[in-house]
Formats: sequence, structure tokens, C-alpha cells
Amino acid sequence: MIVMKFGGTSVESREAIARLRSIVESRCDRTPVVVVSAMGKTTNKLLAMAEEAVKGSRDRALELCAELKAYHEKEAGPHPAIEPHFAELAELLKGLSVLGEMTPRSIDAISSYGERLSSILVANSLGAVHGDSRDYIITDDRHAQAAPLYGPTFERLKKLPRGQIVVMGGFIGSTKDGITSTLGRGGSDFSAAIIGAGIGAEEIQIWTDVDGMLTSDPRIISGGKRVKTISFAEAAELAYFGAKVLHPSTVVPAIEKNIPVLILNSRRPDVEGTRIVAESVPCKNVAKSIACKTGITVVNIQSTRMLMAHGFLRRIFEAFDKHQTPVDMVATSEVSVSLTIDNPTRLSAILDELRQFAEVQSENSQAIVCLVGDNIRQTPGVANRLFRALSKVNVRMISQGASKLNMSVVVAESDLRPAVESLHSEFFSDLDPTVFATGE
Ligand code: ADP
Ligand code: ASP
Ligand code: MG
Repeated sequence: MIVMKFGGTSVESREAIARLRSIVESRCDRTPVVVVSAMGKTTNKLLAMAEEAVKGSRDRALELCAELKAYHEKEAGPHPAIEPHFAELAELLKGLSVLGEMTPRSIDAISSYGERLSSILVANSLGAVHGDSRDYIITDDRHAQAAPLYGPTFERLKKLPRGQIVVMGGFIGSTKDGITSTLGRGGSDFSAAIIGAGIGAEEIQIWTDVDGMLTSDPRIISGGKRVKTISFAEAAELAYFGAKVLHPSTVVPAIEKNIPVLILNSRRPDVEGTRIVAESVPCKNVAKSIACKTGITVVNIQSTRMLMAHGFLRRIFEAFDKHQTPVDMVATSEVSVSLTIDNPTRLSAILDELRQFAEVQSENSQAIVCLVGDNIRQTPGVANRLFRALSKVNVRMISQGASKLNMSVVVAESDLRPAVESLHSEFFSDLDPTVFATGE
């Protein structure tokens, strides 16, 4: 058995669904479980209509709902199951406009419709069995960012129909009490891996709109080459530091059960894609790819009291912890600590707290650029090459993760493109053809 996950662009239109059908049908001897995302940008649209409803623009919300229904009918319908789903969604929106507030639980209720609809429509198009993921993926109740409870999920997945093609929605699940939950944005990749681990799949295929993991983020620079093989550890690091092509949690269940993950292009199904495997891949190059994350805030904390004192870092981290804000990168000196966060919602409360014992400044619109590769750990002179490449860029912070798999710098967002361009030409000009697709 294999799991085949198709992302939003791979189910966005009639043509895309036709491509999906031919890809799945040509692999039906491997009895795929097909996992689909919401069609196109449906999740964003659902969240936008929920916001309109909460703002009190009830009619606008219902108008957006009608547009979404027309889109689904045009590209994948009509289908009798669409009607009751949209009727229910409209009722929810009316409810939200009366309440005037949104909880994470109601956000999940609304954003789940994308995958609920797409999975029914794709199952119909394939003539396959539909599995409601909420009956199989059981999560904790951290709505909008729920984590799977592997015990009950694997138990439920044992009941998944065997011997035929099953289509399920990614991203969604339910709590033990049966309340709809979601795994966080981009979470359909994670769903595919959870299902793959649960059914003991021989392979997890992530079908998307690029040829695989590329040596650089195509949204920042073009000309990145496909990485043919990459280790779980490298892929996880890249995903965590912004390579959107894979949700960062995807590799966790795959590592656990040692199931290879493939990234493939649904528009060019004959391209080999990227194979993510357990062991590290021998490679003549130091790095495999560059990931970047924008919208970063740097917090600089300074205090002479830090000198020779203990407990200082604990107090700092307690402030971030208290406001449930994860810290990504940390760099310290004798009297200062710099760190980065990507969620500034609670920033001013955190700064107030830190100001009680230190001088603090924060800078927004920063970006993390992260060079990733197994070989970084044993190759001398990588930092030297990195700084030479970035000699014209103002580097705000540097860090090498404990895994020694990455070397990261923080630059202003306005310097991101030149920084990635310079690093890419320094580290990816002369590529090992056994690991990179140099001819494409
Ligand atoms: P899907 O809807 O199929 O899940 P996503 O939009 O989530 O697709 O992920 C695919 C996108 O990831 C690509 O279109 C590309 O813009 C982006 N991306 C970022 N970094 C990389 C990278 N290193 N290699 C390939 N794609 C990347
Ligand atoms: N539809 C969800 C999102 O847009 C999940 C996914 O596409 O992976 O975030
Ligand atoms: Mg995605």
C-alpha cells in the first residue's frame, strides 16, 4: 500500500483532478490511500468569510460562501453531497455573525470544510471509497494546531477499508470527544504521513506543483536545482526553516516507521522527484538546499547584570514560555542575548516582562536564511565561505544548530533576495550529479 497526497494546486480545477485521476489510476496496483488538500485556496477563502461574519458583515460572508460553492460546482461538481455541506457552512457563518467572536474551535469547524468537500469530490471522480478523516485521525484539543494521538489514530486506521482505493481529506481530524480539529496550516502532508505510518505504507508520496525539493525556494530566486535524495534530518530542518513544500511534522511518523517520503510534481509526473530517506546521503557538496523564513522579529536583550550571573537565560525563556511564543534562533554573548520569534502576537507583553530586568529592543521584518546539509558538520571552512558570500549583506545574527546540520543567519527582509542569490552561487554552482538533477 502507498499513500498519495495531493496539495491544493493539484486539485484546484477540473484539469488538475483529471491529472490526479490518471496518476492514481496508473498506480492502483499499489492500492493507494489518496489524501487531498482543500481545492486551490479554499482554506484561505473559508477563513476570510469567517472573518467577515465575525466583523458583522453577514451578507458579505454569505456571498463569499456562495462564490465558493459555485467554484466547487464548476471545477469538481455538481454532486449531491455539496448542497448540505454549504447549507451547514452558511448556518455556521450566520452563527458567527451573531456571536461576533471566533474561537480556535470554531475556526477549525469552518476551515475543515475545504478538505471535507475536496475528499468527497475526488472520491467521486475516482469512483473510490470516501473515508471521513475525522473518523480516523484522533487529535488532542489544541484547536487549529492539534497534535495526533497516535494510539487511538492507529487503532482507527486498522478499520480503513483494504484492497480498494480510499480518498481522505488531509489537515482535519477530531478530538476524542468527536469535535472537529485541524493539524495547522499546510497540515495535509502531516496527515499523509500519519496515515502512512498507521497503515504501514511502503511509501508516502507528496504530489505538489514543483519537481521536488529544490536547492532554493523558487518564491525567492529561480534556477534552483532538484535534490534527488535527501535525508529525513535534512528535510525536517529545511521544512522547519521555511521550505513550504513539506510540512515540518511530516517526517516524524515517517522516521518512526522508516517509510520513504517522495515529493513529486503532479504536472510532470514522469520527473523522479525527491526521495527522502532515513540514512544520510553521500554527497560531494556541503549543503543540500537553502530555506528561508520571512516575517521574523529579532529581540535583543542586554543587561550588565547578566555578567557572571546565573538564572538570566531562565528568566528570559520564562517570559516567552508564559506567552506561549516559541523561540527559533538564539545567540548569546557575555552581556546580551538575541533571539528570533515568528509569531509577534504577544510581543508587547513579552517585552514588558523582559524590561523589568534588562534593556530590550525588537526589530520586525527580518528573515532567517538557513543553509542545510549533513556535510556541514564535518566540513571545515563552511562559515568562512558563508561570510565571504554575504560580505555585502548586513548580517544581524548567526547560529549553528546543535544538530550541526544547518548554518543560519538573520538578515533584513529587504536583503533576503541578494543574500540567497549569493549563497546559492557560492554553495550550488558545481553540483554532485548523483544527488542533484543538474540537467533539468
Ligand atoms: P501544496 O499545496 O501542494 O501542499 P505548497 O504550496 O504547500 O504546495 O508547497 C509547494 C511550494 O513550496 C512550491 O510551490 C514552492 O513555492 C514552495 N517551496 C519553498 N521552498 C521550496 C524548496 N526548497 N523546494 C521546492 N519548493 C519550495
Ligand atoms: N488546506 C490546508 C491549508 O491550506 C492544509 C493543506 O493544504 O495542507 O493550510
Ligand atoms: Mg503544502
